[in-house]
Amino acid sequence: MTYELIIGLEIHAQLNTKSKLFCTAATDFGDAPNTNVSPVSLGLPGALPVLNKDAVQLAIMAGLALDSDIQERSVFARKNYFFADLPKGYQISQFELPICLGGHVYLDEFDKTIHVTRIHMEEDAGKLNHQGADGIAGATSSIADLNRAGVPLIEIVSEPEIRSAKEARAYMETVHQTLSFIGVCDGDLEKGSFRCDANISIRPTGQREFGTRTEVKNLNSFRSLERAINFEMKRQIQVIESGGKIIQQTMNFDDVTGETSALRSKENAHDYRYFPDPDLKPLLVFPDQIANVR
Ligand code: ADP
Ligand code: MG
Repeated sequence: MTYELIIGLEIHAQLNTKSKLFCTAATDFGDAPNTNVSPVSLGLPGALPVLNKDAVQLAIMAGLALDSDIQERSVFARKNYFFADLPKGYQISQFELPICLGGHVYLDEFDKTIHVTRIHMEEDAGKLNHQGADGIAGATSSIADLNRAGVPLIEIVSEPEIRSAKEARAYMETVHQTLSFIGVCDGDLEKGSFRCDANISIRPTGQREFGTRTEVKNLNSFRSLERAINFEMKRQIQVIESGGKIIQQTMNFDDVTGETSALRSKENAHDYRYFPDPDLKPLLVFPDQIANVR
């Protein structure tokens, strides 16, 4: 049996602003833990978010560069979940009405166009530093650093049109080059300014319906993306050929072993109980503003 590989990528790019998405705390990388924080990014009760204009400008710029339709009205929503790096108990993100719809990325090397579904703005979460062991396994405690909490991101979601690890890499490289060149993102992969989640499934050649996908989180190099996809493809083929079923899961990729492993079974979107953030008005972007950015 031969199989076709189906891939859709979600790229998180940090917008190149001085301050966070909803407060004046600095976005500087590498400062002492928990120094670039504010009542808003700490999620203290009663603290109110104020949208960063520069971040909006950069998100529009990214949309124009990827040929997206900039939406005149978009809405920030609360994505509710519990995690130790998220003191508010929700992440502010755009859900039903994102700032950009559509767009495309042309892959020179393959003479192929990959369509962009949407680009939305969101805030980053904090970071947990696991203590007492190498990585998460066997850690005895974890320390939360909230310097990154509230840093502005855009998430660029592709259509499931990518068909190989090499195409995926070319897509990630092209988006990286484009956003870095226009200064929307500093493009520093090592600092986590640009990272990718890969949604991967296989289907028997000739079949129309997609197979069940897995999602490999937080790939922060082009090489890891390629390796993770190739590993995951082989793993999925093996599962199916031995009579098993792929379960929809979130996976982690280990750069040292070159293997993926399951983190958690995939939550459904509605489990997040998204709703419009009552602290933030809809974001209105006017045509003259778009023209200026262009
Ligand atoms: P979620 O919130 O569940 O991650 P999104 O809509 O944000 O969902 O992203 C889904 C991503 O997965 C998109 O990039 C899409 O192209 C991709 N995708 C959807 N179905 C499949 C599939 N069967 N195989 C591979 N990729 C898929
Ligand atoms: Mg996702």
